[in-house]
Amino acid sequence: MFAAPINLCVNPLLAATHQANGSSSVRARPNTKTQMEISGLDSNGRQFKNPDEMWQEEVGDSQKKHDWYSNGVGYWQGVEASVEGVLGGYGHVNEPDISTSEAFLNTLLARFFPDAGRNQHLVALDCGSGIGRVTKNLLIRYFNEVDLLEPVSHFLEAARENLSPENMMVSGDHKAVNFYCTPLQEFTPDAGRYDVIWIQWCIGHLADDDFVSFFERAKAGLKPGGFFVLKENLARSGFVLDNEDKSLTRSHVYFKELFNRCGLHIYEMKDQKGFPDELFPVRMYALTTEIPKRVGTSRPKRKSNRPAVIK
Ligand code: SAH
Repeated sequence: MFAAPINLCVNPLLAATHQANGSSSVRARPNTKTQMEISGLDSNGRQFKNPDEMWQEEVGDSQKKHDWYSNGVGYWQGVEASVEGVLGGYGHVNEPDISTSEAFLNTLLARFFPDAGRNQHLVALDCGSGIGRVTKNLLIRYFNEVDLLEPVSHFLEAARENLSPENMMVSGDHKAVNFYCTPLQEFTPDAGRYDVIWIQWCIGHLADDDFVSFFERAKAGLKPGGFFVLKENLARSGFVLDNEDKSLTRSHVYFKELFNRCGLHIYEMKDQKGFPDELFPVRMYALTTEIPKRVGTSRPKRKSNRPAVIK
């Protein structure tokens, strides 16, 4: 595989990140102020002192914010409704993506629910679902009901088709129920409906303020004891703005700051393995509103499960 220059990578989810790595100019600085002191880059190599400088330019007034979101959705409106399309031409990462997610989900279900939830009616929400790839390959096998949220209508229609009963291998008590054609920043889930809210490769489209307000609303959509799974690309430091599709790849430090603002705890995290080297690293976070009581006797080995620091 070649390492494409970042400004040639049209897909933020899976773009190469070499320009963002290692340069001392983009190292995260200590986060001592309320304003994040994290510098970053855009896909043309332009540098920003901190997120505020970048956000001010990108979403600093209501017209700019409108353009940010319509350019983001507009980008995906031009993408084919296929696995290859939603994975930016890296369709072959579907398999390692799903198997790693499945292992993570299994660990979490075993910790959160008696008998790993097998005797419960479980409900999930797939955010930024695209064509329903994650639901079809994973969520529908574990959850009795899955709702999908996706702002791009031709993706959502493909999802509806892919998940129609005649195209499904699972039994009738596992089904895709609601298909919401709306973006995350405008969505408020029904109170207490979901055991798990899964958010994969779409949160980069949200500006920080909408990120925080989305999670605040979504917290109320969780059942007591429910949790979020956020699976995202990670910038090795700071942040990387993709000018073409209007999305932001954040570093772990940046995410942690936002989780704090949302009042969310990192219960567990795990790094994706087996992706091509030129792609951004990918991390899964399990996020809870409070430190949950664990079922069963075995305590999680948090330290040994923690991924190594990315250098
Ligand atoms: N999560 C899916 C799709 C990833 S592609 C998967 O892993 O297969 C990124 C998705 O984010 C696209 O479907 C795109 O339409 C969606 N998206 C873009 N802007 C969004 C927004 N503001 N809110 C929710 N989803 C958005």
